[in-house]
Amino acid sequence: MTNTDEKLESIFDEVVRRNAGEPEFHQAVREVFDSLGRVVAKRPDYLEDALIERICEPERQIIFRVPWTDDQGRVQINRGFRVQFSSAMGPYKGGLRFHPSVNVGIIKFLGFEQTFKNALTGLPIGGGKGGSDFDPKGRSDGEVMRFCQSFMTELHRHLGEYTDVPAGDIGVGAREIGYMFGQYKRLTNRFEAGVLTGKGLFYGGSLARKEATGYGNTYFTQAMLETAKTSFDGKRVVVSGSGNVAIYTIEKVRACGGKIVACSDSSGYVVDEAGIDLELLQEIKETRRGRISEYAELRGSGVHFVSSEKGSIWDVPCDVAMPSATQNELMEEHATTLVRNGVMAVSEGANMPCTPEATRVFREAGVRFGPGKAANAGGVATSALEMQQNASRDRWTFQQTEARLATIMREIHDACYTVADEYGAPGDYVLGANIAGFIRVAEPMRAFGVV
Ligand code: NAP
Repeated sequence: MTNTDEKLESIFDEVVRRNAGEPEFHQAVREVFDSLGRVVAKRPDYLEDALIERICEPERQIIFRVPWTDDQGRVQINRGFRVQFSSAMGPYKGGLRFHPSVNVGIIKFLGFEQTFKNALTGLPIGGGKGGSDFDPKGRSDGEVMRFCQSFMTELHRHLGEYTDVPAGDIGVGAREIGYMFGQYKRLTNRFEAGVLTGKGLFYGGSLARKEATGYGNTYFTQAMLETAKTSFDGKRVVVSGSGNVAIYTIEKVRACGGKIVACSDSSGYVVDEAGIDLELLQEIKETRRGRISEYAELRGSGVHFVSSEKGSIWDVPCDVAMPSATQNELMEEHATTLVRNGVMAVSEGANMPCTPEATRVFREAGVRFGPGKAANAGGVATSALEMQQNASRDRWTFQQTEARLATIMREIHDACYTVADEYGAPGDYVLGANIAGFIRVAEPMRAFGVV
């Protein structure tokens, strides 16, 4: 072990000690640190002034009580979080997640990843993340509205278009953003459109924002496939999840000539060898908020549903895998199966869906692997485009916005590819994304001095 490696290890040990009981956060930091050895070997000055220690410590963490009343008149309590990780590149920016699994460690891992992801977009946005352990599933619109209003009643004092700009994530879509924006507007008496992104089109939202993460991951994967002199045309593709990211990945991959043979939700997955019927999937998931098993029931013969206790979506043979559900959903044994079945590219639509062991299997097998902080950056990039439209009181067409998204995704791909090459690891997008993202955050921090 070199001196710089030892120094990085001792910084990592301190991160684990200071953030005890937060395994997802440790995992996200570890993954970045595994790439930093090569940077500090070239640039030992990055070890000065506790720069790396400061990058691992959120600038501010807010935890608050969210009381609300359910339809039976009972008072319910949830916990709200906002981790304002880094404002080195611009106002804190990152989504809100409403899911029972949410805790401070999960929000911290997401905020840490978000910081580098946002830097990779090349746009002036810092990193943050937030949410609550509230579960919107099975709740009425009235309950969701009262929860969102209570959540925003506390959070609003920490937000602002130059301070912190949240968006959606798991469990937070157009409905929740609408309720939160309404409450922000009421509390502040300001129509500050740029304070939230993912807004409805009638009050400052951007065309193509809803589609952006899935479309963006498709563009990123397409660029990876091009380096292997191939394309989506005729490829079998598996996309996990059936939420926002999954649905628009399916739409774009299909437009690029790929055939999506399986998708899922937390209860299980469906296999449709004729290709997933997107319109039916949207009707079930977006309109009725139903379960994936209904897809098999309604689509009829030739389609089967497998419950999550009985099997994994990653057992379905495919050329391209695009995990788009949640963190750590694709483990080592799944990666081994995918490689055995001949997968040639894997690209993360979700945040950290592949465990470190699974990622290692893909990298060792020479599978092209797009890490989430690069591959799914299209959503936040388009959020920044929404902020641009709000700031200039303008509105772009779908085509204009999608064209900007496509260019940004190509630039992110090329930056990762070039930096990996420069650092002696050609084709290693994980290393390329971590190093390119780190340098873009580290440089302004050095310029600002010790703040
Ligand atoms: P979403 O609309 O809430 O959808 C999440 C989907 O994943 C649902 O179909 C959900 O099924 C499924 N899911 C959750 N846990 C699962 C599990 N253990 N196994 C299988 N499926 C599971 O959320 P989303 O916005 O698409 O976000 C998905 C991922 O992408 C998250 O990691 C998020 O952080 C990341 N991401 C999102 C954006 C964005 O713009 N939305 C941008 C960048 C990254 P159930 O309905 O059964 O729970």
